[in-house]
Amino acid sequence: MADGQRSEHESFDRRLVRKSPWIFHFNSGGCNGCDIEFVAALTPLYDVERLGAKLVASPKHADVLVVTGPVTLQVAKSLKLIYDQMPEPKYVIAIGTCACSGGIFSGGYTVLGGVEKVIPVTICVPGCPPNPKEIFRALEAIYKGEIKVAGGGCGEEQNRG
Ligand code: SF4
Repeated sequence: MADGQRSEHESFDRRLVRKSPWIFHFNSGGCNGCDIEFVAALTPLYDVERLGAKLVASPKHADVLVVTGPVTLQVAKSLKLIYDQMPEPKYVIAIGTCACSGGIFSGGYTVLGGVEKVIPVTICVPGCPPNPKEIFRALEAIYKGEIKVAGGGCGEEQNRG
């Protein structure tokens, strides 16, 4: 391959890599309902892989942290540790009403509340559980760079577009 072609090819690759959201998933105390819908979003039916998205085994390789469930006291420290290990720029999607606000588990003696109690949240996807299409849209917003405010939080649905 000629030098010119190679550099064009490499810069094309870099653009793809920069925009492909690699995902680390963490259940911070939910009932698994949201996890099932998140897994559905990964299947060929919804196909988040068309965005270059894939699950990774380590937060050190992740651009996006997907959190399901309310944050229990037991896992709060682990959630912060996972977030701290992710390289910048990093995004957090809170999936489900429990991850957004604590949901039906709010007020429980083992529950701290929504994900925002521990780490900044970029996009909230409410619902119990949310539809995989909504999960896809949140990842798509990150893929397309449509996030106005990283860490916009669950009170700001308008942090997209
Ligand atoms: S939002 Fe609903 S489905 Fe998701 S973890 Fe909470 S109770 Fe379960």
